[in-house]
Amino acid sequence: MMRVAFIGLGNMGGGMAANLAKAGHEVRAFDLSEAALDRAEGKGCNRMASAEEALDGAEAVVTMLPAGKHVADVYRKSVLLAAPKEAILMDCSTIDVGTAKTVAGEAGFAGFTMVDAPVSGGIAAADAGTLTFMVGGTDEGFERARPFLEQMGKAVIHAGEAGAGQAAKICNNMLLGATMAATCETFVLAEKLGLDPQTFFDISSKASGQSWSMTSYCPVPGVGPDTPADRDYEGGFAAALMLKDLKLAMEAAQAAGAYTPMGGEAEELYQRFVGRGGGTKDFSGIIKMIDDSWIAPAEGGNVK
Ligand code: NAD
Repeated sequence: MMRVAFIGLGNMGGGMAANLAKAGHEVRAFDLSEAALDRAEGKGCNRMASAEEALDGAEAVVTMLPAGKHVADVYRKSVLLAAPKEAILMDCSTIDVGTAKTVAGEAGFAGFTMVDAPVSGGIAAADAGTLTFMVGGTDEGFERARPFLEQMGKAVIHAGEAGAGQAAKICNNMLLGATMAATCETFVLAEKLGLDPQTFFDISSKASGQSWSMTSYCPVPGVGPDTPADRDYEGGFAAALMLKDLKLAMEAAQAAGAYTPMGGEAEELYQRFVGRGGGTKDFSGIIKMIDDSWIAPAEGGNVK
């Protein structure tokens, strides 16, 4: 059993912290939200009144925060000042590559070992302990983080040096956003050409056009495996979070001088979908906007 400080107990962090507690660790939990703390306490974590209290004597630190500015703030103002130097630091939030590298550099300068370890998999995977972690950091950092991450996930992969976990995460999600948009427009075209959606799924999911978006997460209701499309696009991976990841990918592409026209197009489409009220819908719900027969025609109208 180890003493683990867990900061950020929201939709994702709540389930992850609970899984560490279930594995037998003493989880010292802190969040700015009382409601999040209540839920964590109910799932076996120890409620702390401040980040500093959570960090006291910690052997490992996990953070699961909304964005880069929160991560930089929490590390600069709390973790790097209050955690013991021997603690392994793991930031599992999805943030920009630049901030991930900067914070890891500051942690290293202060004598800590830190990894960025963003996740693939949504709230259900966080609760079930079946996340996939993409880890950036040294070999030593990876090996020290691995046992904790394995208790929260089904796969833990070393992506490279500091920041590489975030790079892998946003590249993966840029590809996902682009393939989902392409899958949606393909189904719309197929239908307009008179093809039955199920028949087209049967063909394309076994032909060269297949992708995860087609085969495992089909955006058409009643076609393929059970997906959010079968629940009016409720649950799953919110379009607003896909937009966040696409923005991070475009920012990174610009900084790296990479030409990413498909990623740029996906960002624009998701921006429009979120602007029309689709932000809380699953990201496959963008098919409603792409198929003009399924969407309220007036610009600015809500997605049906
Ligand atoms: P969330 O908003 O539900 O949770 C974030 C939590 O951090 C909140 O409870 C908030 O109160 C807390 N917080 C913010 N600033 C804090 C501070 N200074 N000190 C302590 N607590 C603070 O977000 P989430 O859905 O849990 O996502 C967390 C991260 O995981 C994000 O970076 C997101 O992009 C990423 N992610 C989310 C999903 C998903 O499906 N929700 C999937 C993969 C990755």
